[in-house]
Amino acid sequence: MQPASLLPEKAFRSHAPGYWEKKNVSPEDWNSHMWQMRNRVTTLAGLEEHLVLSDEERAGVLLSGNKLAMAITPHYFNLIHPTDPDCPIRRQVVPRIEETWDDPEEMSDPCGEDSHMPVPGLVHRYPDRVLFLVFDRCASYCRYCTRSRVVSGVGDQKLDTEFEAAFKYLEQHTEIRDVLLSGGDALLLSDRRLESILSRLRSIPHIEFVRIGSRVPIFLPQRITPALCEMLAKYHPLWMSVHVNHPRELTIEVKEALERLSNHGIPLGNQSVLLRGVNDDAQVMKSLVHKLLMSRVRPYYLYQCDLIEGSSHLRTSVAKGIEIIEALRGHTTGYAVPQYVIDAPGGGGKVPVNPDYLLMKDEQRTLIRNYEGKVYEYPEPESAKKRELPAMVNRFSMVWEPSAKW
Ligand SMILES: *Cc1c(COP(=O)(O)O)cnc(C)c1O
Repeated sequence: MQPASLLPEKAFRSHAPGYWEKKNVSPEDWNSHMWQMRNRVTTLAGLEEHLVLSDEERAGVLLSGNKLAMAITPHYFNLIHPTDPDCPIRRQVVPRIEETWDDPEEMSDPCGEDSHMPVPGLVHRYPDRVLFLVFDRCASYCRYCTRSRVVSGVGDQKLDTEFEAAFKYLEQHTEIRDVLLSGGDALLLSDRRLESILSRLRSIPHIEFVRIGSRVPIFLPQRITPALCEMLAKYHPLWMSVHVNHPRELTIEVKEALERLSNHGIPLGNQSVLLRGVNDDAQVMKSLVHKLLMSRVRPYYLYQCDLIEGSSHLRTSVAKGIEIIEALRGHTTGYAVPQYVIDAPGGGGKVPVNPDYLLMKDEQRTLIRNYEGKVYEYPEPESAKKRELPAMVNRFSMVWEPSAKW
């Protein structure tokens, strides 16, 4: 039997005021993102006021202060089960002692970003697009943060983004058509500061596409004000990738914040991280992707958890990710199925990982199987059959020679 907190939840619910009920918070305060930020839970005492902690959690909180700070908005805190240390929400934001465990495979910069920065704060890994790190704080801190080395202000590294140099680089590099704003979280900047960045980017003619990667709509839906949405809508085409891992995170408030963004013409995608004890279960994931579609969010990526230091208790096998995609593809709406990727350790970028549907391919035919496991044959057209084709590609006997000329 799964604990109650792991069962998928289909309904959109409000959990407010939840643990804050006895504090008589006015609706104006509760709905203010400034109030939510000022009242984040950031201490052991703050946690223990509401939750019964396990020894692993208590020790983790005491030791978290020198790597990645703890902070949880009241809105998000209300999703946490009071006594269950296996609560999938709790595992994402409450530190555990396992974060201090040493694993020789883990790294402080698992995606090799620091070595791909032509300008501090600007990661240029792919030919036509860049990742622009514009702020080093988040509304709440995910314990598996891939950028914990520079985020939250307590680690040994600082995010020293050089904005002027970054804009110059973007102006000079006409091959860059896509800029992704991230951090930290760009939506914690003031409307004015964010607008100054967006308008500067929009003044560069070769930048066609701008997107923001943000977990603010989930941690702090109150920040998605009509004024923010109206400002963002001036800079179209503007897309946004949000980050939801568990269906319970999709509350009424979050759904409405996502709808405000959509109603202002911002297409929404979701990036989930596959996490042990959070969403490493096909039923949980199915419930999540269905609730995303109901919130007009297209599941975009499912990430294998990066080899970030202190993440061993949250990482799963790659087989688990493949199993989850296999349980979705064909079994539910195609729009609901994200692309499972591994961000290659050391800096190879995102690599898609898929279940094997291609069983065999030679000059004559392609053998495929469907989601039910039934095998089908697709014959090559006559024209292709006659041609001298390169080596036979057989998934089970192929020897990959990267240097071979096809
Ligand atoms: C993820 C990422 C991007 C965007 O990749 P898409 O596949 O286009 O979403 C760009 N730059 C870096 C460094 C990234 O990590």
